Amino acid sequence: MDLRIDICLAAIVVLLACSCAGAKDASRFVTAQMRANALANVGAYEWAAAEQKAAVDAAARWLSTSDDELWAMVTSQELPRDVHTNKDAGCPNCGSGIARFGNYPWRAGGDWKLECPNCGAVYPKNDFRAFYESALDEHGCFRRELGDKALLFNAEHPDPNDPLHKLYVDDGYGLTDEKGNRHRFIAYYNSWIQWIRVRSAIDQLARAYALTADAVYAHKCAVLLDRIADVYPDMDFAPFHALGFEHSHGGWGIGRIIGCLWENDHVWHFTRAYDVIFDGIRGDDALVAFCSAKAQQFNLGDKSSIEAICRHIEDDLIVEMLNSYKDGRIDGNTARIRNPAAAAIALDRADETAQWLDYLFDPGYPHEKYQNPVPFLAMEGLDRDGMGSMCGGYGTMQKDSLIDLAEVMAAYPEYTAHNLVADYPKLKQAFMIDHRLRCLNHVMPPIGDSGSTGNWGSPPGHHVFLRGYKLYKDPRMAALAWHYSGRKPEALRLPFVDIFDAAPEALAGEIAAIVGDAELGLVSDHLGRYGQAVLQTQSAQDGRALWIHHGFGKNHSHRDCMTIGLYAKNVDMLPDLGYPEYTGSWPKRGAWTSNTVSHNTLLVNDTASGYSPGGRIELFAISPPLRAIDVSSLTAYPGMRTYRRSLVMVDVSPTDSYVVDTFRARGGSNHRLSYNGPSGVATIAGLTLQPQPTGTFAGPEVGFTELPGEGETTSNTSGFSYLYDVQRSGGPVSSAYTVDWKGEDLRKRIKEGSEPHLRLHSLTASDEVAVASGDPPQNKGGNPRSLRYLIQSRLGDDVESQFVNVLEPYDTTPFIGRVRALQVTHDADANSVAALAVELADGTVDIVISCEQPTAVQVEGGIEFNGQLGLIRLVDGEVKLMRMSNATLLRRGDVALMAPTAACEGTVTAIDTTDPMNNTVTLDPPLPADESLVGTVIHFQNDLPLDTSFDVKALTADGISTGDITIIRGFVDKKNFDAGYTYLVNPGDGYLLPLTRALDR
Ligand SMILES: [Zn+2]
Ligand SMILES: [Zn+2]
Repeated sequence: MDLRIDICLAAIVVLLACSCAGAKDASRFVTAQMRANALANVGAYEWAAAEQKAAVDAAARWLSTSDDELWAMVTSQELPRDVHTNKDAGCPNCGSGIARFGNYPWRAGGDWKLECPNCGAVYPKNDFRAFYESALDEHGCFRRELGDKALLFNAEHPDPNDPLHKLYVDDGYGLTDEKGNRHRFIAYYNSWIQWIRVRSAIDQLARAYALTADAVYAHKCAVLLDRIADVYPDMDFAPFHALGFEHSHGGWGIGRIIGCLWENDHVWHFTRAYDVIFDGIRGDDALVAFCSAKAQQFNLGDKSSIEAICRHIEDDLIVEMLNSYKDGRIDGNTARIRNPAAAAIALDRADETAQWLDYLFDPGYPHEKYQNPVPFLAMEGLDRDGMGSMCGGYGTMQKDSLIDLAEVMAAYPEYTAHNLVADYPKLKQAFMIDHRLRCLNHVMPPIGDSGSTGNWGSPPGHHVFLRGYKLYKDPRMAALAWHYSGRKPEALRLPFVDIFDAAPEALAGEIAAIVGDAELGLVSDHLGRYGQAVLQTQSAQDGRALWIHHGFGKNHSHRDCMTIGLYAKNVDMLPDLGYPEYTGSWPKRGAWTSNTVSHNTLLVNDTASGYSPGGRIELFAISPPLRAIDVSSLTAYPGMRTYRRSLVMVDVSPTDSYVVDTFRARGGSNHRLSYNGPSGVATIAGLTLQPQPTGTFAGPEVGFTELPGEGETTSNTSGFSYLYDVQRSGGPVSSAYTVDWKGEDLRKRIKEGSEPHLRLHSLTASDEVAVASGDPPQNKGGNPRSLRYLIQSRLGDDVESQFVNVLEPYDTTPFIGRVRALQVTHDADANSVAALAVELADGTVDIVISCEQPTAVQVEGGIEFNGQLGLIRLVDGEVKLMRMSNATLLRRGDVALMAPTAACEGTVTAIDTTDPMNNTVTLDPPLPADESLVGTVIHFQNDLPLDTSFDVKALTADGISTGDITIIRGFVDKKNFDAGYTYLVNPGDGYLLPLTRALDR
């Protein structure tokens, strides 16, 4: 046959394929051209050859598994799946000893056996495989009632007269131990070992096919996918939920193979793998023969051709999965939007695929119970900074899903109805937020259900910045990719992506050239809705970072408004408890871990504050050695007149900083400020506390975790009964005292010869001071056994408070000699002004003046101040430097810092978001044409509950630009995306840009 005829025939075949209702005719995610590029790259580059070899090695195990064995790996509906065995009882042998191995601790201990990682005990004790095989029906599916009950016995006690003969025997539906506890071992194995093994096999085989173009891998993968399609239509988690089996379903009790949330992972892996291997099974007669034989033997459907097998996988697996988004059995929630898109594109039927993609963008997606369509997720699910609407890893997963979605949709250019990159400006920020969430370019504060107690975590992976750079060509993304790759060009390669590129090394060269030698320093930053604001030193070397949380409307929040954290001396000095032992209705979660009193914040009315009620930044000043932030929330506790925290971090040397923490509150009863340092032991000086011999902080008669109050539940308790080993002052405290926590090295962070401490200097008059112990979650590796809490209480009704504490993180030897309150004279409220002297060990004296509002104040020592925040540093009694913010005067003797205005103020007259790279706000009056204002923070004054402060990215003729940080908040009408946007800044809003001035001598 000559080439011309061959091409003609090929064209006819393509036409025929297309004519049958737009049936799939080629792989999309890894096309034939991409496979050809990969093979060329394998020949040209060592790294590509290594990537191919790794894929081949990983798949070798499945290549040597027979088609029959692969087929039999897939279990069917009536074999339960469970995410726990029994999380209350733990291991039948060692009980809660297993808890420290995490939420899902069991590991494979043989064929249908689980092994306890703590004590090594193995369960169940019967040969489950024998029973399983005896219980298969005419379709090869497990039916418990068909199984041979004679096989259900403890293999270590085969004698029927042995009293242990029937102990620890699981028929698939769990077993009961000697204490009467149910353990669901086989269901756990089925979910965590068996199905994950099937999924790994599918992934590894698809990958090996894509990187070798060897159809043998596609064949093996198709055997598994075809079998899954046999069983999938019956897969339904709801009956198991009814029987008490647990899975990830967000409380709905529904799912398919597993709970409706995690089923998304199956969608992602199964449907994409099908697409990847599609080209490889086109002429696979052996696959037809195998599947046909199975179909005949087990009375399955039509498997008589490749087209029939593909249609079976598409209809009975992919379309089944897509339909499940409509009925909720697979959850189309915020963090999982990429998965139905991948399924629709893997299906690749022209009209149907377009309809499924349209569905994702429809205001009604996914179903009537709730709506989360792509436009909503990308415009409201993401905030202006590109973070999702949930805490920690949940929020990053949400934005990662949109990032993935952008790439998934790029594999299907025929669909032009929506363009994620062009249509949704917040998506760009999502590529950089992993960096902005980090303190010290490394550690992410464990806000809400995230992280663990005192964990330092890891820096962000550099791949996301690389992926962003590919899409946006933004040099900031290049710099982040370069920094977090360790400045290694060979690391600037996306596995299983760049190998498919015709010129796979071009990108790394481009990035290296853009970034050059520039180092990535630290930046003090603030995130609007996410509400994490960070003050940090310029260098990560011996760096210090102080954060405060004031997030708004976030899922997986704790009741932690205005809680703070401090990273210094390589240690988390104020560890948040982080992720609870378990989410859901786990008692300790609501009563303690996510409750207000377990956080470093102020408790009012002896009740919890709201879940991410929002706060607004009133001042953000960076002028080293001073860095300051002031945040207010009137929504944390309804009805309060003031709930506001002012933090000032002051560097005293390249390695040390202290923090002045002023918490002001007015209204409500019983103000209690809680702190927990980095250990279970605290040493108190300047104050004597009496041990309370019994009970908890809730009272001597209230035992640990008891909730005796009328109507008291885990969701409305103060959490006081979770604080034990109580010591109390037994009366008012008016003198200064210190509390010192010596950091515990549970995470191998303390270097030889170092001894990090946190010392708190209190200047607050209290009605009572107490210390007590509280427990972090005990099933997270490295979490401390307990932490010691300090609770400063000001008691009574309609209390007005100004708590003033200085935090001194030090190594081995304190650098502060003494902290003392200074006398002040002013006309303002007594609780609105604080002035103190921080006397350093080297004789330097810092004077810090913190006012709630700009105030004219006389401070002892002949100091005059008019403003919000002032710092004077005295060396040998002489003024060395001054800083002031939102102020017009700071004077000591004949040294003065003066300014004509404290702040720029006025009104917003117009906004313009038409250019998403250049959002502008018109101001009346405009700001002075002073380039030093670029990089400062402007606060827009309005009624929104979340922060609306922005960095000034540029000055315009009549206002400012916020650059590519959008001022769009969301949609006017969630059901009609064409009805326009709501904004974070609106004409008529006030604006305030406090000015910060410096004097150095
Ligand atoms: Zn055990
Ligand atoms: Zn927390």
